[in-house]
Amino acid sequence: MREDLRQRLASSDRTLVADGATGTELQARGMPPGGCSELWCVERPDAVRDIAATYAAAGSDLVYTNSFGANRWRLAHYGLADRLTELNEAAARLAREGAGEEVYVIGSMGPSGDFLEPLGELSAAEVSAAYGQQAQALLAGGADALVLETFAALEEIEAAALGVRAVTDAPLLASLTYGSSLRTMMGVTPDQAAATLAAAGVDVLGLNCGDDIAVVEPILAAYAEAGRPLFAKPNAGLPQMVEGELTWPISPAEFAALAAGWATAGARIVGGCCGTGPAHIRALAAMVRGG
Ligand SMILES: [Zn+2]
Repeated sequence: MREDLRQRLASSDRTLVADGATGTELQARGMPPGGCSELWCVERPDAVRDIAATYAAAGSDLVYTNSFGANRWRLAHYGLADRLTELNEAAARLAREGAGEEVYVIGSMGPSGDFLEPLGELSAAEVSAAYGQQAQALLAGGADALVLETFAALEEIEAAALGVRAVTDAPLLASLTYGSSLRTMMGVTPDQAAATLAAAGVDVLGLNCGDDIAVVEPILAAYAEAGRPLFAKPNAGLPQMVEGELTWPISPAEFAALAAGWATAGARIVGGCCGTGPAHIRALAAMVRGG
């Protein structure tokens, strides 16, 4: 059986492999752009289950749930706010059914899409409550752990982490997205993020998405101060338009070679975000298993 992810990271030196992008895989299975991806947890459960199965077969030790935007604000945008519990529970259940019992299911939670006061309308208390609610639904569906991912604003991810911690002791990962300046779009530095998130009860600190893969190692180095296990799940480089389609330049072999450097820099979990698919995960799995 799976041990607690924190214990697993403490008891074994092997780098764990996460998954790749979810959105691209949904589109490859026929999801039209612009819709609510999370609705496919009930409308096309076969496709959502198959993505988890595909990544597990490629060598993922962890798979993320299809629930990135299943928070009260993003669902309200599609008139689906009243289905929050149902969609998050289904996302976790389908990931488990697809990935099997040996793989960790990580409940994905993305940003609200709005700003905290005074820039925006949200209060910290409201943000905490919302992420506590989403976390509970993901755990009820069978998630082993939770991840707050692709955040840019420190106040928002801090409030979200505190909200998760108010309802559960489950392992909590958190990752922000950085630009070439080694800051997020909201100006947050990795030192600020690491100190704040460690204090908020985050177990595993990471970075994900982003156009500049060269920032991964310096960000990990800055995070190391916090004394927490680290993870990296970047994009496959800066996308380019090729014959009308977004294309990411970094091949699976190149991605795995870079990931060996991330592991040396302290990443205990490596995976990919935009532009990475099962072939990238196969290459990562071969790398961490010495293949
Ligand atoms: Zn991404």
